[in-house]
Amino acid sequence: MNQKNIFLKILKKEIKADIIYQDKIVTAFKDIKPKAPVHILIISNTLITSANDINEKNENILTHIFTTAIKIAKKIGIDQTGYRLILNCNKNGGQEIPHLHLHLLGGEYLGDIL
Ligand code: 5GP
Repeated sequence: MNQKNIFLKILKKEIKADIIYQDKIVTAFKDIKPKAPVHILIISNTLITSANDINEKNENILTHIFTTAIKIAKKIGIDQTGYRLILNCNKNGGQEIPHLHLHLLGGEYLGDIL
């Protein structure tokens, strides 16, 4: 895993991102290398390194990340055609950035992965 946390820099406004939603708990922005016509990342505003660091004390953040993704999907109108939510964890899961984030992908048929 690339240990550089670019997402913290986005949160601190040290590097630019196309932020489409932000509240006290999460921030959502467009992926710099979109893998689909819609590719949005929803990240925690506090540093949670991976899914392994979700526990009973902070599970509300994960819930909020998912709720936000679903609200965005509805707002941009891909809820009826459908979308995919992906949360990569660590090396074998393909996690590149060590900061909890959910991928919202859609806008076309994404194929079968399972
Ligand atoms: P992961 O592989 O960690 O689940 O996903 C990380 C995602 O962050 C990748 O899809 C990658 O394209 C995206 N990404 C990496 N660096 C940047 C950046 O500087 N800005 C934005 N908007 N996305 C980034």
